[in-house]
Amino acid sequence: MTQRIALVTGGTRGIGASISGALKNADYAVAAVYQSNNAAAEKFSRETGIEIFSWNVADYESCAVGIEKVCATLGGPVDILINNAGITKDAMLHKMLPEDWNKVVNTNLNSVFNMCRCVVPSMRSRGFGRIVNISSVNALKGQVGQANYSAAKAGVLGFTKTLALESAAKNITVNAVVPGYIATEMTDILKGDIREEIIAGIPIGRFGKVEEVASAVLFLVSDDASFITGTLLSVNGGQYL
Ligand code: NDP
Repeated sequence: MTQRIALVTGGTRGIGASISGALKNADYAVAAVYQSNNAAAEKFSRETGIEIFSWNVADYESCAVGIEKVCATLGGPVDILINNAGITKDAMLHKMLPEDWNKVVNTNLNSVFNMCRCVVPSMRSRGFGRIVNISSVNALKGQVGQANYSAAKAGVLGFTKTLALESAAKNITVNAVVPGYIATEMTDILKGDIREEIIAGIPIGRFGKVEEVASAVLFLVSDDASFITGTLLSVNGGQYL
């Protein structure tokens, strides 16, 4: 079988870097997309040999151009898409700036439309595709200070189910992985009492590891998961059931 091509947005740091690495180890050809942290991306690429590409996934035209570049570099169309890029801009709603609402929704939700809209037509015509969208436990349970983030991540879940229905007959599966708190730079900012409080609410008693999210993604894109579509797979240590 020819090597499948996988594209991971936000694939150079945190959870995405672990997903990119797991896919490479499983013998996929991998493209890791990031936005602007060149130093982190270049270090990641040097250490792993994974091809890196930089664009803003919140912008549709940039996605269209960037994906063409990925296909030309890796020698074929995208078989597997992992929509992982995400940001937070937390504030209580009564203090949230409209620009921070828009930025979070554009980066976490509109990006998923942009990327899927660009790769799904080719997946449909080839009769194969695997899409995994990374949501968040806070989409399911809400979180003080995250009206923008939890709304965007909940939007990803509805999108996942709809695209799964639309794509099933074309042998394209679309699933969501729903992480709880995972140790990355995004959660490193949580310190002291707040961190302890969060851990007290996680039955397994710790933050998750990036590898624990990556292995869930790896399963969902594998042939072993060929009958699984439209599902939400929680990876949260029992935090929210
Ligand atoms: P990090 O902040 O560690 O990494 C984010 C990655 O996304 C970086 O590679 C970053 O690029 C990229 N990125 C951000 N915005 C854009 C953009 N507009 N265009 C292209 N790339 C972009 O995040 P995490 O690894 O912590 O999180 C990964 C995903 O998992 C996110 O969707 C997050 O919401 C979700 N999640 C994380 C949890 C956690 O506890 N960490 C819990 C639940 C969900 P660059 O390096 O250039 O900045």
